[in-house]
Formats: sequence, C-alpha cells, structure tokens
Amino acid sequence: MKRREFIKGIGAGTALAGLGSTGLANAKPKFKWKMVTTWPKNFPGLGTGANNLAKLITQMSGGRLQVKVYGAKELVPAFEVFDAVSRGTAEMGHGAAYYWKGKSEAAQFFAAVPYGLTAQEMNGWLYHGGGMKLWEQIYAPFDLIPAAAGNTGVQMGGWFNKEIKSLADLKGLKMRIPGLGGEVLKRAGGTPVSLPGGEIYTSLQSGAIDATEWVGPYNDLAFGLYKVAKYYYYPGWHEPGTTLEAMINRKAYQALPKDLQVIVTNACKVVNQDMLAEYTARNNAALHTLVNKHKVNLRPFPDPVLKKLRGLSEEVVAEVAKKDRASKKVYDSFLKFRKQAKAWHDVSEVAYMRARSI
Ligand code: CA
Repeated sequence: MKRREFIKGIGAGTALAGLGSTGLANAKPKFKWKMVTTWPKNFPGLGTGANNLAKLITQMSGGRLQVKVYGAKELVPAFEVFDAVSRGTAEMGHGAAYYWKGKSEAAQFFAAVPYGLTAQEMNGWLYHGGGMKLWEQIYAPFDLIPAAAGNTGVQMGGWFNKEIKSLADLKGLKMRIPGLGGEVLKRAGGTPVSLPGGEIYTSLQSGAIDATEWVGPYNDLAFGLYKVAKYYYYPGWHEPGTTLEAMINRKAYQALPKDLQVIVTNACKVVNQDMLAEYTARNNAALHTLVNKHKVNLRPFPDPVLKKLRGLSEEVVAEVAKKDRASKKVYDSFLKFRKQAKAWHDVSEVAYMRARSI
C-alpha cells in the first residue's frame, strides 16, 4: 500500500524510469533476525509454531524483516536461549518462561502454574488483565521484550512405569517435570528433573529418570514415549494451559520502524491462537493412536491424589510470592484474575461442559 502510494506520489513514468524497481525495494531497510528455540527443529506444534511465527513476520513485512529459525543446539543449547537473546547473539527466541526461573522466580507465572489458568484464562490475564505489563517488567532487566506466542491447552499428567494410586506412589520418583509442578512433586517426596524435550526419551529409556511429563498426545506420540513407559496419566494438573513465549532483544526491537514492531507483536498474537487451535484439532487423534494402536494404559489420577496435589500446589505457589517483591506483585495479580475467571467460568465454560455430558 505504502509503496503504491509512493509510486503514485512521485508520478510513475519519469521518476520510476530513473530509479528502477530494484532501487525502490532497496529504499527500505532490510532486517535479518535469528530466532533460537528451545525445541527440536520442526517439532510438531512447538517447533512448527516457531516456524510459523518466523514465516508470518517475514511475509507480513513483505520481506523487510526476515526471520530464520534455529532448533535447539543448532546455534545454542535449549536452555541458553534466554541468555542468547538477552545478549543479542540472536534477536529473537521461542521457548517457555518456566525454563527461566533461575533468572526470575516470577517468570514461571507466565508459562504455567499448577492449578492455575487455562489457555483461555491465560490470554485474558495477559492481554486484558494486566499480565502482559507485569511480564514486560520481569524481562526488562534482561533487555528482553516478551510476547505470548503459543499455547498447548491442558497438558497430560505424564508417563509412568507404575500405577499412581496414592500420593505415596510419587515418593522417591525421579521425574522430568519443569517449573512449579516440579516443586510440587518435590513436596510430595519426588525428585523433579529439568530436561529439554530432546533428551526425555533417552533419559527414560536409560533409567536416568523414572517418569516424565511432556505436553499432550500430539507431541508425546511424536517422541515415542509410549515405547518407554506403560501408563499415561491425566489431567495435567501442573500445566493447565501452558503459554509458549517469544522473546525479543530490546535493542533489535527498537531498531525496527514502528510498522515492523507492530507486525512482530501481532504475528506473535496470531501464532499464540493458532497453536492452541492446532493442539485442539490434533490431540484426540493422537490419543486414539496411543491407546488403540500402541496399547497405552490411559489412567486418570485418583481424586484424592489430585486434591492433595492441589493443596501442595497452593503452598508452593504462595511461597514463590514470598521470594521477592516482583514475584509477590505477579502472584497477587494472578490470584485476583484466577478468582474472577473461576467465578465466571463456573457459570459458563464449566456449566456448559457439564451440560454437554449430562
Ligand atoms: Ca509439560
């Protein structure tokens, strides 16, 4: 549009003849960004979500901002994404905020909180409930600008090689489970391990870990986790609507003209919604394959286990709030939002889901 107006403005014919079309294209600065990710390259949902984001930014900007995606380990290891974007080795990153609790405890609230917000509620909190502003404040000291850029919806509880009949069955269990969910497992007597996705299968196979959670059927099937664990538990009490993030190096962002900044921000919003749609469309077929083709034992956590985990979760999350002022501020905002979201969803989403199942 702008280019067309410009052409009109200078009056085609004469001026154009001198400039030539390549001259016009080069008149606008081109930016080339690297996007490092915590995911294996092209991994369904997560890695492809990062690919979609890069493609969208490149297309929406008409090629003025080109983004190239790097899978975990291609440029930096998965858990070095935050530092790489912070120092400007890459201009952009894609991951999940709970991987960075070593940088800021409060970061975990922007990925997933056990018994916290669903995908729909996370988006409500971030975009219209003050959450985004708090997230920006948490990342600002690291010269990073955060954006929600994907959501998995409610995850699965995880893969186990024994049945979980009571909370005591979690005792002594070495399980890959990140963020606050890991702290809850510790409180239940287990040992949480943080591992990037690409290392889960071999760790479970070798016995380095006894159990794992990852995402949900669509992703867990792709990793082949059914080959190394017998029981698949639900629901993912620890990750009720995990937000994936894009992080942008502040200097790189500020170097962009305003229209490209708007494109970056809104491409993240598009991918944030689109990823959730993809999981919603793909999970059930993958679950069907796991249960019917691979004979996975699908099990719900018993109610008393879920109730006890909820109690422990409330304790753990409240303790994070005591660690520093920033965490307290985020916790208060999260708690206030959850309360009103639950009140509304009790008479809307929950009531409707119930009505559909009567
Ligand atoms: Ca997970």
